[in-house]
This record gives sequence, C-alpha cells and structure tokens, in this order.
Amino acid sequence: METLIRPFDHQYASYLRDESRMEGRADLIAFPRTEEETRDILRACTRDNIPVTVQGARTGLAGAASPDGGLVLNLSRMDRVTACGFDGTRFTLTAQAGVALCELRKMISARRFVTEGWSRQSLDALTLLSRAPEQFFPPDPTETTATLGGMAACNASGARTYLYGAMRTHVQALTLLLTDGRKLVLARGEQRASGRHLTLFPDSGSPVDVGIPTYAMPETKNTSSYFAKDGMDAIDLIIGSDGTLGVIADVTVVLSPLPGRIAGAMCLFDSTAQAVGFVEKLRTDARDVASVEYFDGYALDVLRDQRQSHAGFTSLPKLEPWIGAAIYVELHCKDDEAVIQRLNALSLALASVGCDDANTWVARNGSDLDRMMFFRHAVPESVNLLIDKRKRKDSGITKLGSDMAVPPHRRLLRAKRSQSGTSVRDVGTHRQQPPACEHPAQLHGGVPPRQGAFYGVRKDRRQPWRFRLIGAWRRQAQSGLSARHVHARRDGSDARRQSRA
Ligand SMILES: Cc1cc2nc3c(=O)[nH]c(=O)nc-3n(C[C@H](O)[C@H](O)[C@H](O)COP(=O)(O)OP(=O)(O)OC[C@H]3O[C@@H](n4cnc5c(N)ncnc54)[C@H](O)[C@@H]3O)c2cc1C
Repeated sequence: METLIRPFDHQYASYLRDESRMEGRADLIAFPRTEEETRDILRACTRDNIPVTVQGARTGLAGAASPDGGLVLNLSRMDRVTACGFDGTRFTLTAQAGVALCELRKMISARRFVTEGWSRQSLDALTLLSRAPEQFFPPDPTETTATLGGMAACNASGARTYLYGAMRTHVQALTLLLTDGRKLVLARGEQRASGRHLTLFPDSGSPVDVGIPTYAMPETKNTSSYFAKDGMDAIDLIIGSDGTLGVIADVTVVLSPLPGRIAGAMCLFDSTAQAVGFVEKLRTDARDVASVEYFDGYALDVLRDQRQSHAGFTSLPKLEPWIGAAIYVELHCKDDEAVIQRLNALSLALASVGCDDANTWVARNGSDLDRMMFFRHAVPESVNLLIDKRKRKDSGITKLGSDMAVPPHRRLLRAKRSQSGTSVRDVGTHRQQPPACEHPAQLHGGVPPRQGAFYGVRKDRRQPWRFRLIGAWRRQAQSGLSARHVHARRDGSDARRQSRA
C-alpha cells in the first residue's frame, strides 16, 4: 500500500489544480493502474477517514479536481481499452477511466487496440469493427486530453452537443467503485428507479438505498446538480455527479458511424447584429449542422493580442480590424454534394444579413479542420495564460466565469449591450443545444480578474451567483477580460466537491 499511496510533496504540485487555476492542498497522492488497486486505496482511505479527490486529466474548468486536503486519486494511468462490443447495430468500447479522448480517437480511426487480455467476444466484435464503415466517438469538449472517466463524471459537452447530445447520450455502461471499495456495475436500461428511489446491489455487503432528489430538472443542458427524474436510469445519477458518489473505474461508450464528409465554416461579420441575424436564419434549416459557435469581438481581440505577443499562437489567421464577430459552423454531411448544398445555404444566410461569403474561411479537409480547432481552442487557452501571468503578481487571483443556457433573445440583448459600448464584456458564446430545444443558446463567459480582492466578489453569498457574476463583469469593465467558462455554482457554494471516504 505504501507504494500505491505516496506522501504529497512538491514534485506533485501541478496535481493541486485543474484548468480553473484554482489551487488546492493535499497530503497524499496515488496513481492506480487497475481497478483492484483503486479499490485497495479506497478501502484504506475509508479505514483511516481520509477524504479523496478524484482526478482524470485535470482539464475541468470548475475547480472540482482541485483537492481540499486528504488524498488525490489520479486515474490518468488507468489508460487501457479493455473490450469491444457489437449488439447487431452499434459498436461499443469499454475503456478504463483514464483513457484520454485524443488517444481513444486515434485508436478508433486506426482501428488499432492493444488487445492483450480481451475476451473472445471482444476480439470478434473488433473484427466486425475493422470491416464496418468508419466509426467515431462524437463528444468533443474542446480539450481532447480529457479522460473518459472525467468526461462521464462531469457530463462533458462541447460544441457538437448541438447535434449529438452531451456525454450522457453516449455512455452505455460504467463501473462505479463506492468509497468503501465495493463495486457497482451499471448498464443503461438495467437498473431503474421506482419513482424517486433506487436500490443498487454492489458486489458485496448490503444493498445501497438511494433517495433521488425531488427537484425538477430543467429541460436545458445543465450539470448544476445530480440528474433526477421519476423512474430514472441509475447510470444517469452517476453521469454528471463530479466524483461525489464514487469513482468511475471504466466506461462503456457507444460509437457512431463517421459522417461521409465533415466541413467547417468560420463566418466573419463586422457586427454582432449581423452574426445573430445569420444564426437566426441558419436555425430555420439546421440540417447537417453539428455545431454553431459564436465568438464576440472581445474574444477576437484576445486572439489578436495572442497572435502578436505569444510564439505559440503566431499560426493563428490574421483577423482584420473590421471583424467584430465570428460564427463557426461545423457540417456533418453524407457526401460532397450535401456539403456543397449546405455551404450554398450558408452563403444565402450570409447574404440575407448583408455579408459576403468571400469573408468566410472554409475547412474541407483534416488539416484545415485542425486549424479551425486550434483557433477555437486558442480563446480559452489564452485566457488561462493571461490568468497565469496575473497570478504570478497576485497569487489570490483565479478565473471567474460561467456556462449557462440562455434563450437566444437574451443572448442577443447581452450581445447588443456589449456592442453598444457599455462595460459588459461578454465573450465566447456557444450555442450547443439540440435543434428541438426551446432554449438553444449556451453562454460561456470568463473573467480573468486583475486583483485577488476582485475574486472575493464570487465568495459574497448574499446574492444568487448569476447576479454576482454579471455584476463582476460590469465592475471589471475598464480592465479587459476574455473568453469562456468557469466556476460558480447555482446555489452559490464553492464548486469544489469531493467524494469522502
Ligand atoms: C480549453 C478548454 C475548453 C473546454 N471546453 C469544454 C466544453 O466546451 N465543454 C465541456 O463540457 N467541457 C469543456 N472543458 C472542460 C473539460 O475538458 C471537460 O469537462 C473534461 O471532460 C474533464 O475531464 P478530465 O479528465 O480532465 O476531468 P478532471 O478535470 O480531472 O475532473 C473533472 C471532474 O470529474 C471528476 N472525475 C474525474 N475522473 C473521475 C472518475 N474516474 N470517477 C469519478 N469522478 C471523476 C473529478 O473529481 C472532477 O469533479 C474545456 C476545458 C478546456 C481546458
């Protein structure tokens, strides 16, 4: 056990934080490679009453992987794909929790897996997979170093959620280790609640009775609390529970057939009003649209600055001064002809708001799409770099932000405010809800404070967080801020959560 659980010392400093840049503290750290090792660690922590913080790749933006004392349980070394399945229609892959999304993607596209220890059934399914039309795993939370366990734990989404839904939709089964080391295997459709009550049967000991919260879930995408519905599937309680109910040891995900052609279009506008008009037009026929992502003028300014000042960003395309907003549209089509039809539809939508399609960058192949991805990723990445820079001067600083679903007209209002020169700098808005959804806009706002004192605004619990956040945006006015995301919970509590042994 001593070799599994190590004292926490300075060489592990980076494990005290995630992409929220919130810095925690820890006494112990462990990097298990197997489910058995993880169970042993959990048993020891239960015995000694040591709190546990679970970590995947620490790409989370909510500070939830940042520890608050006790043991850091980092699963990044549980990185094997262990099984393949085929139910006659769909392929599945079972992966240990620490498998990174980028690695999984590589394996799926090359159809190459390390199959040591796989069952006969898995090997047969793999043979079928190698002969089937090309498959892919749709969830894309932008940061592809994220692990599957972390993605399931926080029900990761991302721009493609617009067409494919969030991580929840793609998880077929998972293995959950309870804090005392007992194991629950949950498969979709196999363990359902009776009303708001679940009885679950771990591999040993007494059954676990779970009272499901009685609140009504909003229809919009959210991860603000446990998923709760009458008669719900047990697996949905774990997805999005952020490591508070146990440790996800492995996840079985469903693959989808790769669209015949993927194309991207970055449409450039001189005003927010034009960009919003374009999206409204696009929404009247959103066939083959996988994602729609909005970057406002402030987000574009962040990229302009980065391109000038940071060697890692010189390959960003030049953004002419007239460009005040951009919309990225990703199209997933069956063939070239469909891509051409959809691009023509985009041209008409652009013309309807007085824009020339000559100002649109189109990506039709993998390397062009990678460049677009780099552009999109550069916004939050730049904000994080900015925060690191400011943190060096004032260690109390961290990022403030939010990720919220808003009706489109409110987004428009907000966008207009920022456009009209008031102080609210509101950037990096995404729209990533399914087309049928009533509230189809998702806003990511991020504020890199200049002083630690400003961060204290978040901790003022007198008002609901959203008002504090908007107030914070206003106050921050003169000092500049940028891109998307981060931590503030609906109930105003700290975003950090732990599973306690
Ligand atoms: C530039 C950038 C852009 C991003 N864009 C998006 C986006 O558009 N949409 C989006 O949804 N996310 C986005 N993210 C956030 C992040 O990448 C994802 O949410 C990711 O899924 C987290 O995975 P992880 O392995 O890094 O988990 P971590 O950050 O390590 O952990 C996240 C949470 O899951 C828990 N956890 C991790 N592994 C397990 C496990 N095996 N069992 C139980 N609990 C576990 C942790 O305790 C923590 O609560 C972005 C991040 C960055 C840096």
